Amino acid sequence: MSAKLEIANLNKRFGGLVAVNDVSFNLEPGEVVGLLGPNGSGKTTVMNMISGALACDGGIVRINGTDITKMKPHKVARHGVARTFQLVRPLPTLNVSENVMLALAFGKQRHWGRTAREMAEDKLAFVGLAGRGQEKVGDLTYIDQKRLEMARALASDPDLLLLDEWLAGLNPSELQIGIDLVRHLQDQGMTILLVEHIMEAVRALCSRCIVMSAGEIIAQGACSKVLQEASVIKAYLGD
Ligand code: ADP
Repeated sequence: MSAKLEIANLNKRFGGLVAVNDVSFNLEPGEVVGLLGPNGSGKTTVMNMISGALACDGGIVRINGTDITKMKPHKVARHGVARTFQLVRPLPTLNVSENVMLALAFGKQRHWGRTAREMAEDKLAFVGLAGRGQEKVGDLTYIDQKRLEMARALASDPDLLLLDEWLAGLNPSELQIGIDLVRHLQDQGMTILLVEHIMEAVRALCSRCIVMSAGEIIAQGACSKVLQEASVIKAYLGD
């Protein structure tokens, strides 16, 4: 359930805009690392290049030593990479269980003879939706939609989880549930890259932070130290 992620000299341009400029970092197996920075700093673009949703203009992405740089998203998923999206996007015409089963079709396909429904139930139980598989997605509360989104990401049995503001929009008690769920994954050894604006969550979960500004890494290291650096505060607050 753990993966090593290596990113070296990643670049991406959109026309004349350099969205990601020579970004390099590694995640060791089982690390939970925050990828931070103000809006537009390139975090989602980096996530998109790791997951294969976006082609890089240069650089290398490796997972457990395998070069996945040029792979399409479904192939990247087979190498153990999964992500949640900033927007909660289950298919509304399917029920909760069916939404997870659909996600099971991707990923590493370690089914070991179990039915898709059994595996979906396992993932739903893990995220706190045990026995809720037959419910309509449209009837779920916001936190339960977030749980479903996590169950769908976990359906592919990932080794590296990319969380793109998965905790956004939760009220304080829901936020604690979300943090606890990520911590549960952390305890199981999942490698996690967390793009997150909620600093309480970053402090609670991440051993290390990487801060981007205008497409470049401007600081990285222990969160407690990095978040106090003048360059980081300036990037967030401006001059
Ligand atoms: P963040 O996730 O840190 O908010 P993004 O990675 O979304 O930042 O965006 C980085 C920069 O790239 C921004 O200036 C954004 O406007 C630009 N950008 C992102 N995606 C596209 C795209 N598909 N086409 C053109 N510009 C884009």
